Amino acid sequence: MSVLAIDAGTTGVTAVVVSPDGRIVAKGYEEFRQHFPQPGWVEHAPEEIWQATIEATRDVLKQVDAEELTALGITNQRETVVLWDRETLGSPRRAIVWQDRRTADICSRMREEGHEERVTELTGLRLDPYFSGTKLAWIAEHEPHTWTHVESGRYAVGTVDSYLIARMTRGVQHVTDVSNACRTLLFDLAAGDWSDELCGLFGVPRDALPDLVPNWGEVATTDPKSFCGLSLPIAGIAGDQQSALFGQTCFDVGDSKCTYGTGSFILTNTGSELQRSDAGLLSTAAWRSPDGDLTYALEGAIFVTGAAVQWLRDGLQIVGSAAETAAIASTVDSSEGVVFVPALTGLGAPHWDPHARGLIIGLTRGTTRAHIVRATLEAIAFEVRDVLETMPGLSSLRVDGGAAANDLLCQVQADQVGVPVERPEIVETTALGAAFLAGLGTGTWSSTDELRDTWSLDRRFEPGGDRADHDAAHARWLEAVRRSGGWATL
Ligand code: ADP
Repeated sequence: MSVLAIDAGTTGVTAVVVSPDGRIVAKGYEEFRQHFPQPGWVEHAPEEIWQATIEATRDVLKQVDAEELTALGITNQRETVVLWDRETLGSPRRAIVWQDRRTADICSRMREEGHEERVTELTGLRLDPYFSGTKLAWIAEHEPHTWTHVESGRYAVGTVDSYLIARMTRGVQHVTDVSNACRTLLFDLAAGDWSDELCGLFGVPRDALPDLVPNWGEVATTDPKSFCGLSLPIAGIAGDQQSALFGQTCFDVGDSKCTYGTGSFILTNTGSELQRSDAGLLSTAAWRSPDGDLTYALEGAIFVTGAAVQWLRDGLQIVGSAAETAAIASTVDSSEGVVFVPALTGLGAPHWDPHARGLIIGLTRGTTRAHIVRATLEAIAFEVRDVLETMPGLSSLRVDGGAAANDLLCQVQADQVGVPVERPEIVETTALGAAFLAGLGTGTWSSTDELRDTWSLDRRFEPGGDRADHDAAHARWLEAVRRSGGWATL
């Protein structure tokens, strides 16, 4: 009665098996390549995502009996756009990833043409390169030959969930769910459906888009010839952040979580009410039940947090692994005035500046790598504080994701926001959420109450230290953020 969940993230694919008591009993992981063809551009080869999915699944199947598995849930990096041939399932070009900034000019142009207000009204989003719509408009504009086949119906358009489901079903299914659809700029959030008006505005044929299915309940069966010999009902789908919200069992209005992965994403459940923010938060769909009930959320999306740690490892090469950053940063008591603004792909919530670029300021002859590593972890906490200050009334914060394993980060976060930070035993909440959805859809769990009972606390970080010191550090951070603004346009 166990559930297999695939978390197709930004840096790699995780496969987990979740038992009926909500524990992860097996895990596989496979990283895939990041392609940076130009500054500010980020691409993934769809075939490499698919191969990583197969490898991670094979890995997990060595640890469990495949006969035990009853359902499959899928969660994925959102907004990233994939094109594939409906017949061969091959992709004519690489996927354009959510972090990619190439459409900043298209966004500016559309803003100048006066489209932003209407786009925001319909989608709950903003005109930022982050979302899928302008990425598709870019392909149409720059690669007309490819786009002809989108228009003729030969190529399908989708997010990573749709692509994986197409591969797993040998092209039989072309589906997605509201949590992915609502990030494309092509989805009418209040109506809960694709919008002809937006498809027209971004020049995307509606027929190229996937059909919408509920977040839980059976939608298709995997083809064993394509997918590791498995014939499993695909019964749960959600974009990674909504999946993490579900995995943290944030089922009630006001329940909130922060996931620290490549980026960090704070979501608050707003129930059946579509709430809007004028402080830089996005309105988003959380999930839709098989009965058609739509749950909404408010979201603060920060693009680069764990990715800054990755950059210390792979770009600067001053750490050997992400895991050692806590120990290195702890060798100094403070960053001694060094501030790192990791605007490596522009800034998201609440600053929203696609032209901002990274900045390290406050260096002296005495600066060491420990100060820079500490400043990186502090930056993550500052970025999250900036978002949380737009969400008043928070009494505690549930955290998860790869970087939530970092004790120093969790402590600095609690100090900065002044409320306790609660880390559950399972921080792979994104994958867990997809397993919960699939298990809810196939009877492993009968209700969300049953799921809530599986949540358990690992550690609670209480705010400490001197509030005035924390605020002074945060004020320095805000000044550095200001100085990073607009840099790419100079
Ligand atoms: P994603 O799903 O976005 O790929 P994960 O949840 O797997 O992300 O988290 C991976 C990210 O977390 C990487 O960017 C990595 O640099 C960062 N990370 C992992 N462990 C730590 C750690 N102990 N301290 C700080 N950052 C970490």
